[in-house]
Amino acid sequence: MASAPIFSQEKATSPAQKGSALKPRRKGRDEGVSSSVKTLHQNEEASQSETSSAFLGTSESLPPLLTASEDLEKAKKARNARYSLLRELSRNIWNTKLPLHSARHCSRRAIPSERRKADGSTLKTKMPGTIQIQHREKTHSHNYHGLSRCASALVCPVCSAIIQTRRAAEVMTAGQYLLAHGFQVAMVTQTASHSRATSLYDFIQRFQAAQHDMKKNRAYRTWQKKTGARFTIRAVETTDDNFDYNGKKTGWHFHSHTLVFFERDKAFTEQEAKHFTELFQRIWLKALEGVGLSGSLERAADVTLPRANDLLDTARESGSDESIMNLCAYVSKAFGWEVAGGRSKKGRGEKDRRISVWELQEAALTNRPDLLWRYAEYMRAVKGLNWLRWSQGLKDFCGIKEVSDAKLMEGEEGDQVVWEFTNASFKKIWAGGYQGKLIEVADAGGVNALEMAITAIYLDCDPDTGEEIKT
Ligand SMILES: [Zn+2]
Ligand SMILES: [Zn+2]
Repeated sequence: MASAPIFSQEKATSPAQKGSALKPRRKGRDEGVSSSVKTLHQNEEASQSETSSAFLGTSESLPPLLTASEDLEKAKKARNARYSLLRELSRNIWNTKLPLHSARHCSRRAIPSERRKADGSTLKTKMPGTIQIQHREKTHSHNYHGLSRCASALVCPVCSAIIQTRRAAEVMTAGQYLLAHGFQVAMVTQTASHSRATSLYDFIQRFQAAQHDMKKNRAYRTWQKKTGARFTIRAVETTDDNFDYNGKKTGWHFHSHTLVFFERDKAFTEQEAKHFTELFQRIWLKALEGVGLSGSLERAADVTLPRANDLLDTARESGSDESIMNLCAYVSKAFGWEVAGGRSKKGRGEKDRRISVWELQEAALTNRPDLLWRYAEYMRAVKGLNWLRWSQGLKDFCGIKEVSDAKLMEGEEGDQVVWEFTNASFKKIWAGGYQGKLIEVADAGGVNALEMAITAIYLDCDPDTGEEIKT
């Protein structure tokens, strides 16, 4: 099911394959977007921005997109916090308060340089077998090489941040590419009714089945044909009741956000938008009923068909190349964060009532251990679930290279090894949750500062102040 084609399979030549079809048009302000996307690719470690979340407002209220430098301090702090959370997550898996998960080994040991296969032969992993901190000339930054990661986008606080940042950049690239090539875009949010008694595991199983069934539905296929829907990118998200909220609780809220890209000449008219939205909602409701879930027409499926596209058509009619590109960049960037940036998004507007699973995780692993059982339910429910799914052929169409989460988490090779740990010598780093700190120190003060920090850690001192840590 994971790779099932979602939309029409008709063959079209991808402009991406013709080489530089898009490149000559990228001028002026668009450059800014491309280069920020590039930065995200280059350094998996330092580029995670916790607060760069934007959503698509109306044309009058384009929210400013935060620059990377504004966020750098916050990002560093957040990165350190994520490693501490990961250590707590791991501890709670070992003490069986949380279910078994590969995050218990994450960012803790070296990837072995060879693995033994079932037939007894060995397989070289092309990894050093140690944990290295490497320096990259081009970005003047440091990153880990050979450090074993769990690559879990839904559970691991460290991997999810890296994966989601990278995937958000890809979503932006794809959105930009498709919009520049005449596609229309819409965001569809799907959910179903739920209550405090809802089992998240059961809900997700049924929800997935409903989306699967829907694709085979004849009415849905007609909808696709009539609207020109061709590609999709789907992300799933879970929120929970805020534990501090005293009002009525409604339980787990699992939902999906899907970007649908339409191949059509014009944006939807208001009438068309209304018509196709209602059709979609009815088809979704029917699919929900088929799996024993329910929902109200407007609430179970929220479709934002025309807004962004109206802007785009206006820009296109104005004929200015630059304004189209700016708009494309903006729309795709905004959608990119909406879909792929779920991690850093606080339930806007209903902040007091609901929390994200990352907030639940943080609370459970820090000052609210009474919530561990609740987080455990989430961990069990999302096992094997794909956080982000692209329809078949989309990445290829946009010229985006397919890189698995696991491959991505291996990190790119740097130019120079500045430090090397064995599993044994890395133990203290892991125990203190200092993995992010070391990168920060190396980035700021080079190898000398790194050595001082490591020495401090081995002496049970604070790597920042050099003072002894009292336990
Ligand atoms: Zn991980
Ligand atoms: Zn959402």
